[in-house]
Amino acid sequence: MRKPFVAGNWKMFKTVAEARHLVSELVPGLQPILEVEKAICPPYTTLLAVAALLEGTDIGLGAQNMYWKESGAYTGEIAPGMLAELCNFVILGHSERRAYFGESDETVNRKVHAALAHDLTPIICVGETLAENETGRTAEVVSRQLREGLAGLSDGEELLEESASSLVIAYEPIWAIGTGKAATIEGANAVVADIIRPVVADLFSESFAQAVRVLYGGSVKANNAAEFFNQPDIDGALVGGASLNATEFTRIVQAAAP
Ligand code: PEP
Repeated sequence: MRKPFVAGNWKMFKTVAEARHLVSELVPGLQPILEVEKAICPPYTTLLAVAALLEGTDIGLGAQNMYWKESGAYTGEIAPGMLAELCNFVILGHSERRAYFGESDETVNRKVHAALAHDLTPIICVGETLAENETGRTAEVVSRQLREGLAGLSDGEELLEESASSLVIAYEPIWAIGTGKAATIEGANAVVADIIRPVVADLFSESFAQAVRVLYGGSVKANNAAEFFNQPDIDGALVGGASLNATEFTRIVQAAAP
């Protein structure tokens, strides 16, 4: 019922020339995998070039962040309308933005509203730190991130009950990102099944919670992806490091095909 989705987060890697090269390697391998929705999220400076290369393919394009204001004197920021010309997706609340750039649940929430108002599908990242995990605070932290990040949507105009595809949630335990230490497969599924979907059901409805796609992120590689995708509540992955290699990323997308 939920179409698998795999998105690549290129983080702060690739010049325009390098991005063109990687996309030219990716497209032939990804195009035939019709059962999986896929997207790549390269740096802002490469979006225009990558958008041109993806035209006519079914590979989506996303940004890694944005500001919530429409325009104005906000030096260095990128507005939703600027992204909407090029992208279908935007990653919001990535743990690296929360940890290094002061992203809070409140700013994530403003950005989620702005993205939806511009028909950009937000990929909303939630996840606990190692210390929070080890002290049994995963449920508390992830629930708060969801409740505050999604605040004001349930009765707003932006999010229609029936359109669960208008947002994607990524569960990314912070201790598993870029560390090579993935969460246990069952542990990740349990967070999605027992914390994320119930909170979403409480905020919206049970049918919405069952229809919304929830990805796992954190050291997903070609050799462990299938195990995550076989879990009943995990609908795909947000892939960082491994999305920078065309063969590896293509194998991950292949593993998501039912
Ligand atoms: C990410 O950047 O969202 C991520 C999950 O990174 P990695 O796959 O490298 O752990």
